[in-house]
Amino acid sequence: MMLIDSHAHLEMPDFKKDLEAVIQRAKESGIGYIFTVGTEKRDWKRTLEIANSYSSVYAILGVHPHHAKEIDGETYPILQKLCRDEKVKAYGEIGLDFYRNLSPRDIQLKRFREQIGFAKEQGFPIVVHDREAHQETLEILRSEKASECGGIIHCFSGDYEMAKVCMDMGFYISIPGSITFNNAERFREIVKKLPLDSLLVETDSPFLTPIPFRGKRNEPSYVRYTAQKVADIKKVPFEKVAEVTSENALRVYRLESLL
Ligand SMILES: [Zn+2]
Ligand SMILES: [Zn+2]
Repeated sequence: MMLIDSHAHLEMPDFKKDLEAVIQRAKESGIGYIFTVGTEKRDWKRTLEIANSYSSVYAILGVHPHHAKEIDGETYPILQKLCRDEKVKAYGEIGLDFYRNLSPRDIQLKRFREQIGFAKEQGFPIVVHDREAHQETLEILRSEKASECGGIIHCFSGDYEMAKVCMDMGFYISIPGSITFNNAERFREIVKKLPLDSLLVETDSPFLTPIPFRGKRNEPSYVRYTAQKVADIKKVPFEKVAEVTSENALRVYRLESLL
């Protein structure tokens, strides 16, 4: 039995003191692989350093919508170089965050489009972040022909119709720990209807800690609570969820050789 945490941020300062122990605990909990996402320029080197220090960790690099305004003439040449590292398996997370709006919306839209093009040139699937920007996200995925690269809608928060459109474009839907929250009944109803063949599980560590650890720092070993909740909702064995979501993750990250 293996589980995969398809999305975490191990390079964030929250893990500075005990990264080794965090990765060890994940291993002991049956987490075979962790995909860690470097979201801004100052993190990318550290992301690669971690991925290259642990055989169970792979890397994803890109510019998060929060940092879209920081993209300049140097950004893409640097990324192009770093993305040649063989531990990099996807480009992201990219997209739109109209909840926090840490970059102006017009810049987020422009850089999202641009980064889809860049990911395609580099030959990577994309990891999409969409917070309170469902319509705009779908519009850009369509118009930029994101079906040509496919990828993952991470921390999915849209409705069933949106999930369907994304799946039709070749995207997987990644389920975070918030599925365990008491007020997530609507989200659970959506997940119940989604085919297991299109689902991944993730922690988004250090954020979105599932129950029973809500309020504490999240870490990859907790992805099992999310997988257990998916199993409960769908009334299938935990082992089945672990097996299928792991296969899905390895497929989208083009690591079928690890299956
Ligand atoms: Zn995100
Ligand atoms: Zn993230």
